[in-house]
Amino acid sequence: MNAVKPVRGTHDLIGEQQRRHAHVIATARRITGLYGFEEWATPVFEDTSVFARSLGDTSDVVSKEMYTFSDRGGESLTLRPEGTAGICRALVTNGLTQSLPQKAFYAGPMFRYERPQKGRYRQFHQIGAELIGSGEPLADAETITMGRDVLEALGIVDEVVLELNTLGDAESRATWRTALVAYFSDYRNRLSEDSQLRLEHNPLRILDSKAAEDQPVIEGAPGLEQYLNDSSRHFWDDVRRGLDVFNVAYTVNPRIVRGLDYYSHTAFEFVTNRLGAQGTVLAGGRYDGLVEEMGGPATPAIGWAGGIERLAMLLDEAPDATAPIAIIPLGAVAETPAIRIMTELRAAGLRSEMAYRGNLKKRMERANRAGASYAIILGEAELASGVVQLRDLSEGQQREVAPDDLVKLLSHTKKTGSSV
Ligand code: ATP
Ligand code: MG
Repeated sequence: MNAVKPVRGTHDLIGEQQRRHAHVIATARRITGLYGFEEWATPVFEDTSVFARSLGDTSDVVSKEMYTFSDRGGESLTLRPEGTAGICRALVTNGLTQSLPQKAFYAGPMFRYERPQKGRYRQFHQIGAELIGSGEPLADAETITMGRDVLEALGIVDEVVLELNTLGDAESRATWRTALVAYFSDYRNRLSEDSQLRLEHNPLRILDSKAAEDQPVIEGAPGLEQYLNDSSRHFWDDVRRGLDVFNVAYTVNPRIVRGLDYYSHTAFEFVTNRLGAQGTVLAGGRYDGLVEEMGGPATPAIGWAGGIERLAMLLDEAPDATAPIAIIPLGAVAETPAIRIMTELRAAGLRSEMAYRGNLKKRMERANRAGASYAIILGEAELASGVVQLRDLSEGQQREVAPDDLVKLLSHTKKTGSSV
């Protein structure tokens, strides 16, 4: 039989990798909670229309990255490539558009058919937050601040810069679009094949191109700034004022358009130079039209998503696993009291494990290899006198203690380790 292999672009999360991953999620859950966000979980697949209509037919994600399939009933389903569309679908189908604002945090796997490389996978994971129902520029500033706070709590805020841009409202974008089409048409032959197509369907997307030949042309493209109408300009000014109030540093980058079609006004990315080309770790923007696309009322919204793999790679130190306490019964008669002690330690919240076989020497070696903090040894002599041997494995000292004192003595244990 041929050996099975993992699907290209997928990876298993085991040991340190999963600890890093879980730490990113737990930290984001805690910080967003401080801002009043509650966790939502939506299905990993949706009707294809949920994504096709919202992300934009010409976005890279919809045109070439989606995992779309017919199920056995003939429905076209898609594995979610991102989280926002599903959250908005859930908002509408659960009737929550009547109780706004809603503040949703989520974490989970996303799926995109991309060329796998460092920091880019086919199944990857995101944390994300959506503030739905607030159209004020201060909501943008606060949501961005929350993203910054997550990065700060992860200890990586010094590794990133916040790049900020405005996409204006629909009217401003329409004028800008005309100017962009005129400009890019002059350089059509120097653009990549993809960007020549974008010029037909969605010229703004050219600015988001990663193709090398597009870069010099993009350099000279007109920015949106000069095409902003008055209300869009005020919004943009207020967002930046808000960030000053929240004390968040940023640089304006007129090239940020984001990869999906649903954004308006604010767009931002937290970017690092430590991950090569895959430098965006957390990004988002305002998407005032999306809830309506899902069949709900016109509803303003702003949110972001962060790539957990990229964030996990930036973490300086992997979070520690708790060191186990090794329970070592010597001989069959010691097993029952050993299990009783182990049960009590676990009830007190202490990680304890008992190996099922091996002599004292083997079991001690195993406990040491696993990074156990203590070993509790129960032999016949100890059982007769109602004590156990407690061995501190980092100090190498051993003493007799009464089983009833163990929980009290061991409650401060904190060290790293794997399984006994
Ligand atoms: P990129 O420009 O890197 O392709 P994107 O604009 O497609 O990113 P979003 O859709 O905004 O990204 O997703 C938010 C974040 O999710 C990204 O900033 C990144 O950290 C992460 N991400 C996106 N696609 C992938 C992927 N294929 N593998 C790993 N992480 C990803
Ligand atoms: Mg992408």
